[in-house]
Amino acid sequence: MINRTVELFKDYCLKHSFRITTPRLSVYKIVLEANKPVTAYDVLDILGKEIKNPKPPTAYRALDFLTQHGFVHRIESLNAYVSCNVNHKHTGSQFMICDHCGQVEEIHLCTFPDSLEERISSKNFNLYYWNIEVHGCCCECACDNDILK
Ligand SMILES: [Zn+2]
Ligand SMILES: [Zn+2]
Repeated sequence: MINRTVELFKDYCLKHSFRITTPRLSVYKIVLEANKPVTAYDVLDILGKEIKNPKPPTAYRALDFLTQHGFVHRIESLNAYVSCNVNHKHTGSQFMICDHCGQVEEIHLCTFPDSLEERISSKNFNLYYWNIEVHGCCCECACDNDILK
């Protein structure tokens, strides 16, 4: 699964003439392999096993590239990164974040809610991107804690 996703990333870079650098590739694999959101420091730590003494800008630049091209999303409220689960560049990001286990699930809904859109256009505001982060308790944690029983 990860190999296939990495191949798609390589194809994308080749098609758009972006360089497939070792940090870009390694950082993408790190985010893909993590089953939780990872911070830039987590990434830097793991990257240190592959590249000798990676500097923070190396990790940040790779994360910026991956975020810009939609392979990775930044979870603002956690200051961390997750891989995109649909693996394509889409507009908008929505996430459900479990405050108990830290699991983040992407809600793949590419349209902006009408009620917000109306309000924004009534103010003549130009929308570029959005990021909706919903915090709560995932169903597994809710079951474990008998919250829903
Ligand atoms: Zn996504
Ligand atoms: Zn949970």
